[in-house]
Amino acid sequence: MKFAITSKGDSVSNTLMLKMRTYLQDFELEYDEDQPDIVISVGGDGTLLYAFHRYQKRLDKTAFVGVHTGHLGFYADWVPEEVEKLVIAIAKTPYQVVEYPILEVIIRHLNGGKEARYLALNESTVKAVEGSLVMDLEIKGQRFETFRGDGLCISTPSGSTAYNKALGGAILHPSIEAIQVAEMASINNRVFRTIGSPLVLPGHHTCMLKPINHVDFQITVDHLTLLHKDVKSIQYRVAQEKIKFARFRPFPFWKRVRDSFVGDK
Ligand code: NAP
Ligand code: MN
Repeated sequence: MKFAITSKGDSVSNTLMLKMRTYLQDFELEYDEDQPDIVISVGGDGTLLYAFHRYQKRLDKTAFVGVHTGHLGFYADWVPEEVEKLVIAIAKTPYQVVEYPILEVIIRHLNGGKEARYLALNESTVKAVEGSLVMDLEIKGQRFETFRGDGLCISTPSGSTAYNKALGGAILHPSIEAIQVAEMASINNRVFRTIGSPLVLPGHHTCMLKPINHVDFQITVDHLTLLHKDVKSIQYRVAQEKIKFARFRPFPFWKRVRDSFVGDK
């Protein structure tokens, strides 16, 4: 079994990374940064997002596990004090794997050319480069509304506790095959009208955004910000690919939600 470790880069995470690397090699596991079977992310949820993008070409062959060196995260849910236990569990393969849906983003341009394709673990957002975002939103090929406002956020179930939650979106259990469309400050008056509620689309429904006036957009994919000019359409749907998490103990999603957002109240 081959493993790789991604660190947030601070000294605490780096020290823990070296410690785990040594422990795993003591168990005769091979360190392989290019073709790991398991990727351990040490840091926060952001570190796991980074690791996901680094290894997105081999999602079918890689399982992820997150250790947090700061606060409890949704992807980083092992504490540093537990790493000996975790190392033994990893070395004692086979381990259980759970798969969760991710988001596919396809951006097509007016001048034709090759479309751009991205995968998101949390979400993709669209904002105008200048002024309000004005776009037609189509669901399954049918025009649904013309959106005017700050932007739109299309999230995965795993990402529903991130940006989506700040926009008033629902928290979805990550096993649900769906994407969620949430609005950012839509303009609603006697002239302009949007649905106003977050929409949850099933796996076989595509959400397409088409520009009305401006054709340049600031598009995010997880932590990455991209500028796309001369955009013809942005297509969102549940990706064929999935993310695999190595699972060594039960840690129910709703407990994680409660521990993160409600606490002891
Ligand atoms: P960041 O600014 O450190 O992330 C913002 C916060 O979101 C951090 O506390 C991060 O945890 C947490 N987070 C990331 N994924 C999460 C998830 N699936 N569920 C719950 N919390 C999550 O930047 P980053 O670490 O590079 O993460 C990028 C993400 O930030 C984006 O994908 C987006 O979801 C989020 N974001 C949120 C807002 C907002 O809430 N208004 C605005 C912009 C972006 P860690 O500290 O453990 O990394
Ligand atoms: Mn972060």
